[in-house]
Amino acid sequence: MKSNPKPAKAAQAQEPQPTPARRKPLSKAKRIAVLDILAETHPEARCALDHVNVFQLIVAVVLSAQTTDVSVNKASPELFRRWPDAAALAGAKQEDVEGVIRKIGMYRQKSKNIINLARKLLDEYGGEVPQDMDALMSLPGVGRKTANVVLAVGFGEQRIAVDTHVFRVSNRIGLCDEPDVLKTELALMKNLPEDRWSEAHHSIIWHGRRVCHARKPDCESCPIRGICLRK
Ligand code: SF4
Repeated sequence: MKSNPKPAKAAQAQEPQPTPARRKPLSKAKRIAVLDILAETHPEARCALDHVNVFQLIVAVVLSAQTTDVSVNKASPELFRRWPDAAALAGAKQEDVEGVIRKIGMYRQKSKNIINLARKLLDEYGGEVPQDMDALMSLPGVGRKTANVVLAVGFGEQRIAVDTHVFRVSNRIGLCDEPDVLKTELALMKNLPEDRWSEAHHSIIWHGRRVCHARKPDCESCPIRGICLRK
């Protein structure tokens, strides 16, 4: 009689699995050298979303999810001309907002989110954007990355917002070695000097956009190829 393979498989699945070997991050001196070189290479690195106040910033960051800053900047002048603050946007019709941002990906959901975000700002925060991580993350369409960008760019706090570029590039270089965005943020906060968190966030993003591309990183012309652990 054939034995049933299932119990054996189940037993195997319950056995403790070895932890994958972790790569040691760069030394402190090399991490600082990376920041210095990136700052020198991308001196203009900054938030690329056009805005004139924190309200416009948070709306622009919500709109930028999974799309380019360029496409948001094309739509935002008309959006902010018609609905310049939380009170105005809270009273907007969703179909009107959709008409203005329709070239941005997921424009229906984003229209709903920014109107509801404006309503919540009006109802709970006097129409102002709160300078508080938990309060920001309670707003529609706002996750940890968006909240960090708002705190860093809008309020001048030192923050590391981990987007797809920061996650990919910092783990490639060896600034950290982490499997997800939250662990990457926490590791970068531990591994980089606090007074350079926001600067690092911007210069790593720009390096990811210009040199360390997702599919074909341009290692040949990369100024940190002598330090980077991937190349
Ligand atoms: S050497 Fe290559 S992998 Fe490393 S940061 Fe530069 S482009 Fe990216």
